[in-house]
Amino acid sequence: MESVIYRAKQGEHIPSFLGKDLSPNNIEVFTNHWQHPGSISPPRWSSGNTQAAFAIYTDGSKINSQVGAAFCTFGPDGDGEHLYRLNDHCSVFQAELTALHQALRWKRSNWPSEHFHIFSDSLSSLKAINKLRPKNNLVEDVRNLCDNSISLHWVKAHIGVAGNEAADRAAKRASEKPDIDIHLGVPERSFRTTLRKLLHAEWQIRWNTDRNGRFTQQLLKEVKPSRCISNTYISQLVTNHGLCPQYLKRFNLKNCNCRCGEDTQDDVPHYVFSCPLTSHLRTSIKRDTRISQILADKRLETEVVQILSYVYHQQESILELVD
Ligand SMILES: [Zn+2]
Repeated sequence: MESVIYRAKQGEHIPSFLGKDLSPNNIEVFTNHWQHPGSISPPRWSSGNTQAAFAIYTDGSKINSQVGAAFCTFGPDGDGEHLYRLNDHCSVFQAELTALHQALRWKRSNWPSEHFHIFSDSLSSLKAINKLRPKNNLVEDVRNLCDNSISLHWVKAHIGVAGNEAADRAAKRASEKPDIDIHLGVPERSFRTTLRKLLHAEWQIRWNTDRNGRFTQQLLKEVKPSRCISNTYISQLVTNHGLCPQYLKRFNLKNCNCRCGEDTQDDVPHYVFSCPLTSHLRTSIKRDTRISQILADKRLETEVVQILSYVYHQQESILELVD
């Protein structure tokens, strides 16, 4: 997966990843422009003062898989709004930053010498701008436009601040525009999620159709990266691969039967659920206990470990060689 991400970031086309075409793979790539630390001035922050003469409210939004960014301007010569639709793959974070970026560009070309107060309800974008060395070119662009004529404000969303409400509505309308105005790359995080989903789906298909591991497949029908059985005795039970006559015969290791003579299967579940030779170790586990119940109960798991380790240590007296 890492190699696919690396190749995609290099701009390489990946025509088939598990049968899916991942090109054009326009991933958002960070280009490091070195800046002298002395030339980086921190953005100016202000609190309160929502009655500024020149104010801009920005917002980004993602609704029904469509993304919009907008900013609303409030000044002595009247109010205005600017709406941009972004690619559907864009994140809300990208939309919020785009709104700020466009607002700053508009300000610089129309009112270069006036002081402006810019309001955003996106704490994550404002925090990103505040970083000395952001690892995102859009954040860098926004930062570089924040000169002394700009004061940034964080405004709480959905508490009825008129400018913020207007920007919120404008961003929603921006996402409904028929055409894309600004094309941005796929955020690396979304690309990773897509790859992970594809890999997971493929794993499930293989798990459902592979001829190996059928015993386990009946128990654990759904594949999960979070599931990890580290205890060898528990995994013996889940896979039915462990010290038992059935397994030893199947792999031509030893021709033997269980000395109890009760069960022709003589597999791992035989020792866990029914063999009389291990009955003294069985207190909570019953014949009808399901393996899924055991996996969900630490007490039952401990019992399985005790039973199977007993079988391992007492194999000489439990297994009966067949001549
Ligand atoms: Zn037995």
